[in-house]
Order: sequence, then C-alpha cells, then structure tokens
Amino acid sequence: MSVTWLDGHNGRAEHQITLRILKVSEEAGEAAAAWIGVLGNNPRKGRTHCREQVAAELADVAITALVAIESLGFDASQTLADCAERVLERFTSSSDEADG
Ligand SMILES: [Mg+2]
Repeated sequence: MSVTWLDGHNGRAEHQITLRILKVSEEAGEAAAAWIGVLGNNPRKGRTHCREQVAAELADVAITALVAIESLGFDASQTLADCAERVLERFTSSSDEADG
C-alpha cells in the first residue's frame, strides 16, 4: 500500500499523521452508526442501513488503519502479518491450555 498520493496532497508532517490516525476513529463511528441503523435503534430514523453497509464501513476502518500504519513509516502488510501471528499464537496457546 502506498500513501504517496496522500503525501503529495497533504505532506506527512506529524499533524497529518495525527489526522490519518483520527480518521480510523471517524470510520469506526460510521460503522457504529450503520449498525445502529441496522438495529433501528433510533425511533426517529428507524432502520436506515443493511448489514452489507456495516461490512463496508468496517472495511473502511481496516483500510484507514493500514494507511495510518504506512504513514508512520511501516509496511502495513508486515505489521498486519506480525499482529495476526501474535493473535494466532495467543489462540494456539490458549487452546493448548484447554487441551492439556
Ligand atoms: Mg466510511
């Protein structure tokens, strides 16, 4: 993933990195709003979203997180792979404990 396009428009000063990290929260809020819309929990609005829209918003969260990681100067693919490995190790060790 490349953030060259964004860097070209906005630069990559500390405040720009801050905004890219905050964007993850913005997208998470949109996912939450979409889920509330699926549940129809706001009586004034009723049901406003479907599950596919929630999934799309969650995908926005994932992509904005990857952009933020790249903006910090890391390889997002590697960071994600390292994280997945740690989660898998935790899952494996906890299932070993359950088996043992
Ligand atoms: Mg969104």
